[in-house]
This record gives sequence, C-alpha cells and structure tokens, in this order.
Amino acid sequence: MDAVVAGLARDEFQYDAPLSKLSRWRIGGAADLVVTPASRDALARTLRAAARSGLPHVVIGDGSNLLFDDAGFRGVVVQIGRALGGVSFGSDGEVTVGAGHWVPHFVHATINQGLAGAIHAIGIPGTVGGLVAMNGGSQRKGIGEHLIAAEVIDFDGNVRWLQQEELDFSYRHSRLQDGALVLVSARFRFEPGDARALRREAVEIMRSRRAKFPKVRANCGSVFVSDPRLYSLIGPPGLAIERAGLKGLAAGDAQISPEHANFIVNNGQARSVDVLALIAAARRRVFELTGVAMLAEVRHLSPVGQLRPAHELADQFGPLPLENGND
Ligand SMILES: Cc1cc2nc3c(=O)[nH]c(=O)nc-3n(C[C@H](O)[C@H](O)[C@H](O)COP(=O)(O)OP(=O)(O)OC[C@H]3O[C@@H](n4cnc5c(N)ncnc54)[C@H](O)[C@@H]3O)c2cc1C
Repeated sequence: MDAVVAGLARDEFQYDAPLSKLSRWRIGGAADLVVTPASRDALARTLRAAARSGLPHVVIGDGSNLLFDDAGFRGVVVQIGRALGGVSFGSDGEVTVGAGHWVPHFVHATINQGLAGAIHAIGIPGTVGGLVAMNGGSQRKGIGEHLIAAEVIDFDGNVRWLQQEELDFSYRHSRLQDGALVLVSARFRFEPGDARALRREAVEIMRSRRAKFPKVRANCGSVFVSDPRLYSLIGPPGLAIERAGLKGLAAGDAQISPEHANFIVNNGQARSVDVLALIAAARRRVFELTGVAMLAEVRHLSPVGQLRPAHELADQFGPLPLENGND
C-alpha cells in the first residue's frame, strides 16, 4: 500500500477513506486507500504502482453512478478529479476536455462557444471520464455520438489515442467499462448552434429535470437502463416499476422514489444491501409483469474489486425466473 503512495503529495491520498463520501448515494464502507492524483504524471505513477502492488484497484470519477458496498473496498480507488480537467477549443467545432472536468461546466463552455450537441448532458452530475465510460446522456442520446478520439492510459502507464470506433459505444456502454483503460482526455466535434437559443434550451432541460427527478434525497440517477422491448410494452423503466406497484417501496432507509420510480433514494442511513434488495424486487416484479429483465445502469463495487452492473449482484436477493431464457 505504501508503495502506491510513494512520491505523492500528502493531500493526494487518504488511507481508510469512507466511500460514502465519494458516492452520490452516500452509501459504502471504507476503502483501504483513495488516491486523487493532482497531475497526469501522478496518475500514471499511481496506476502503475497499483497494478504492481497486486491489490484490487478501480478508477472512479464523481461516484454518481456507483453503489459502494457496506463492507467497503480492500484495495486502491483512483479518483479522477478536477486537477485532471480543462477545456480547449480547436477549429471546426472541435473541443478537447480533460477526464476530470465537471460535465455541466463542460456543456456550458460548449454553449458559450456556440456549439450544439452536448446540451443533452447539461444536468448530468459527473466527470467527463464517467460520462464517456457510461456513454451517458439524456433524451435517448449518448455522448459517444460526438466523440472523435479518446486519450487513454493503461496500468503500465502507456498513453495512446483511440478512435471513436475503438471504444465500442452502445446505449450507456463503452469499452472503458471493462476497467483496462483509463480516460485522460476526450476530443469531440460539435455542430455550430446559436448560443442564445442553446442557453434557453439548457434552462428548459434543467427545468424539466427538476420537475421530474427526486429532490433533496441522495440518489444515483436512473437505476435501470431503458429497454426497447419494455418501452414498446409499457414505456421507460420508471413507468414499468410504477405499474408493477413498487413506487415508494422501502428496504431499510432505501426507497424506490415516490417521485420517480427509476430512482432509489437514501432517506438517511441506507445500506448497499437495502438498495440491492430493491433492485432485485423491481427487476423480479417487472419481469413477472412483462417478461423483460431490466438491466441496471448503476454499478456496484464489491469489497474485492468487482465492478459490475448492480443487478448482477442483486439477483442473489431473489433470482429471476429465467426459464424463458430472457436474460
Ligand atoms: C441526479 C442524477 C442524475 C443523473 N442523470 C443522468 C442522465 O441524465 N444521464 C446519464 O447518462 N446519467 C445520469 N446520471 C448518472 C451519472 O451521473 C453518469 O453516469 C455520469 O456520467 C457518471 O460520471 P461519474 O464521474 O460520476 O462516474 P462514476 O460514477 O464515478 O463512474 C462510473 C463508471 O465510469 C468509470 N469511469 C469513471 N471515470 C473514468 C475514467 N476517467 N476512465 C475510465 N473509466 C472511468 C468508472 O470506473 C465506473 O465504471 C445521473 C446521476 C445522478 C446522481
């Protein structure tokens, strides 16, 4: 563990760090070590040292899509923060942005330059690294549509640029989710737009999100990914969960939001097991109702370093009846 922090400044790492402070859900035990590199050099050194240490290791951004375990994490969390941000504009609508940049600030910067295309991401509370890894977006769009190249680093410290087609983007998915490569910066190309009209659109998007999404309570955004078959049968996951009669269902201090059923909120001291129980219940009841097995967008980090869609673990709380081969 000490070898991982050798050469880092004292404020770049913390032993025994509460993961609840790094997750929007405010859930999770302690991680053995959290490193927040202050430079690209420090990032490269940390990734190399973490891999060589043989300890489990994981890279995160703002934790806005992550469920940390009540038992914490016996390894090294590398958090890509604002020190690895920064935006620069080129010609022809090109923008290069650091992985640690805060997404709403990035989108505002593109709007101020009169560039359209990133606006659907205006309300997403994460880093550009997390956004690209998740191919995040709203209005059924994903940021990968506009990405032209990604600067990535591996756990040997090698840096290279990948083209869009090498990142395997699909709905809320990219190759970065397998954890072998870390995004350092991304280059996008956006079409020209009218800055004033874009600003009005941004205000409208934020107004509609505020009206729809739960207020005040800690949450990690949409829990389940939209599924085309479910959509044609009932609509988005939130409506399906509501039709299954689960809106407002609680497990401990976790609750399927009474405001929007695709959100699970933390009413105080929720634990990861409570959230997983609700994910399992929603998945099971919607499957019974529609025959569609919803997939979780939120990812669970196990104490030994498995980072995977939360439903894969939640099924331990009540597996789906899979005789229909529907998973
Ligand atoms: C209130 C709320 C609303 C939300 N609304 C939306 C929405 O409208 N649309 C949407 O798509 N999402 C939404 N989300 C989910 C979340 O904000 C996005 O998925 C966001 O892009 C995640 O960014 P992050 O920095 O928090 O990533 P994290 O949650 O920290 O990590 C997510 C994944 O990305 C990986 N990752 C993070 N950084 C890097 C990197 N530099 N290199 C490689 N991999 C990396 C992690 O390993 C992990 O697998 C919402 C969340 C909340 C809390």
